[in-house]
Amino acid sequence: MEPLVLRTLLVLLTAATASLAVSALLGAGSGWAVFSCVVVVLLAHHLRQLRALRAWLQGADRGAVPEDDGLWGDVFEALYRRERDAAQREQELALTLTRFRETVQAFPDGVVVLDAVNQIVWGNVAAERHFDLDFSTDAGHPIANLVRQPDFVSYLASGDYARRLRLRLPRGETTLSVTLIPFGESQKLLHSRDVTQAERVEAVRRDFVANVSHELRTPLTVLVGFLETVRELKLDPSQRRDYLNLMETQALRMRRIVEDLLTLSALESAPPAPTDERIVISRLLERMRAETDVLSAGRHQVVLEVRGPFDLLGAESEIASAFSNLASNAVRYTPKGGEVRLIWEATAQGAAFTVADTGIGIQPEHIPRLTERFYRVDRSRSRETGGTGLGLAIVKHALTRHDATLEIESTPGAGSRFIARFPAQRLVPAAPMPATAVADGDSQLMRNEAA
Ligand code: ADP
Repeated sequence: MEPLVLRTLLVLLTAATASLAVSALLGAGSGWAVFSCVVVVLLAHHLRQLRALRAWLQGADRGAVPEDDGLWGDVFEALYRRERDAAQREQELALTLTRFRETVQAFPDGVVVLDAVNQIVWGNVAAERHFDLDFSTDAGHPIANLVRQPDFVSYLASGDYARRLRLRLPRGETTLSVTLIPFGESQKLLHSRDVTQAERVEAVRRDFVANVSHELRTPLTVLVGFLETVRELKLDPSQRRDYLNLMETQALRMRRIVEDLLTLSALESAPPAPTDERIVISRLLERMRAETDVLSAGRHQVVLEVRGPFDLLGAESEIASAFSNLASNAVRYTPKGGEVRLIWEATAQGAAFTVADTGIGIQPEHIPRLTERFYRVDRSRSRETGGTGLGLAIVKHALTRHDATLEIESTPGAGSRFIARFPAQRLVPAAPMPATAVADGDSQLMRNEAA
């Protein structure tokens, strides 16, 4: 039985016993009077506590439960406990909701909750960015009124959400991969992911494969044609030698392309360029000048100026490959009688290696694209001079790995300057020169020019 009822009955029983005793001693009237008094007091107490309970239930602040250490004590205690548990549960729920929202907010993908009629309920900042929305004002509005691309609107209406939708946004170059996930009664979760970068990488990969195939197919076709000619036709020895020479040229061209591709791939997968290996610049550039001289075969004046008193920190083979690509381009794109100048000098930010030529120059619209793989201004000229279209891509990669940048300045018909700029953290004071070498930059310049 309920403790409240039990206690009330106990009080009434005690009162009845006492009343009976009083009746026996003082007569029935007195007994009834005592009993009535006890019942009235009891009723008054219950009424007072009921009023207190009603006031508490109606009150805004449910914190302090009415107190009673008598009959109502247990009731109030139970109410208090229930109230406290409910408050605790509410707090936990609010905390979980906050955490959930924070987690979804931190999500790099966009998330929008839509109700049964596709009105926005809530969403995260990534979704605001993706769809150009502001949930503080857009919540409650149909999403189709705000994201109006026809593809999206028909996807939303189709009810077929098994496939993802590729959505190109009207502003900028952004592409989203979008899907709708039904959940709950009839709600939907709109999920969006920015796939612009992934699409770009995929396009570059596709172009690259197409370019490589094309670049290799041309010499291969020529080679196969010559092979058939040599096999089918009766040729005299000198004709045969000519054909074999032409075939060798094509084979060498393919080998150069493959070698350049391997160099590029090695640069892409190599560990970061070392920061503790010294490249003795004067020695490297001296070698570069000699190689450039050989390449020029006396058709140009090759000048070396070493003015910067620094050596470089990095991978010598990579820097050598970058510098010699620049020098070989200068020779290949400078007509006979021109000048090719190799310059190493200190700059405000560090040091720079410049290859300046007096060659054919480059029209300004081509300059931003020169470091793309297989990009050439004049395809046949590049091919005639043994170019693969990969030289400047190799240069850019090797320089980037050394925290350096490539600048290109050119005047069509007058010449070009390719400048590799190295930051101070990639430089160390130049290693002391051997006794026979000349110490200061100007004298070295004269020495090289004299050579
Ligand atoms: P390639 O093997 O064709 O020379 P690169 O990547 O080295 O390929 O250079 C890309 C293009 O940039 C060349 O095809 C050429 O049109 C242009 N180029 C590079 N260096 C020079 C230069 N010194 N003078 C004029 N044009 C140049």
